[in-house]
Amino acid sequence: MTNKGFLSAEKDRGILMVLSGPSGVGKGTVCAALRQRSTNLVYSVSATTRAPRAGEVDGVNYFFKTKEQFQNMIAEGELLEWAEYVGNYYGTPRSFVEETLNAGNDIILEIEVQGALKVKQQFSEGVFIFLLPPSLEELQCRIENRGTETAEAIRRRMQAAAEEIAMSEHYDYFIVNDHVDLACDRIQAIRTAEHCRKERYIPKLKHWMQEVL
Ligand code: 5GP
Repeated sequence: MTNKGFLSAEKDRGILMVLSGPSGVGKGTVCAALRQRSTNLVYSVSATTRAPRAGEVDGVNYFFKTKEQFQNMIAEGELLEWAEYVGNYYGTPRSFVEETLNAGNDIILEIEVQGALKVKQQFSEGVFIFLLPPSLEELQCRIENRGTETAEAIRRRMQAAAEEIAMSEHYDYFIVNDHVDLACDRIQAIRTAEHCRKERYIPKLKHWMQEVL
């Protein structure tokens, strides 16, 4: 008997996780906390035409692009998905996602709902997580307290939030972001469970059975 059929989960293709949720729910904070905690969960850095907020760094938080540069990326097929959100374009660079998964690492995309649904068409095996606020009042407070938006932008973001929540039935898991550490624990628990899925093992067990029988 050979030992080439080791059940080594690390050598499998990585898991693609998508984290969505209304603006202000704390996706960015949760992702930042996850990045600090876990050395092997890779974060996909999106391209956007939105202006950087204070403290945001090009290449770390986003790749900040002009509209023309973004349109070129679309034309060259460089984006796995893209969407227009509250007047700006956002998109996920494709090659980085593919390379990360092929190297056996898990990747998390923090993106809005329309983009997530486009990813689902291409990665049906992806894991789709929707982050919820403890209440809508709390969500509005969080957006207002960020202090970066005009009253009109806040109104549009609350409207977008309602539209996003209406689409959340397409997601596999829901997490209430009542506490960042707990939200991270729940995402890690989902990730662990997804690594134990039968779909990841059955092809290998078939290979074992061929060797034994
Ligand atoms: P923000 O302007 O608050 O950073 O992001 C606005 C929304 O765009 C958020 O819901 C965020 O998750 C989403 N977003 C960020 N990057 C991407 C992306 O690459 N694709 C899509 N479709 N949405 C994104």
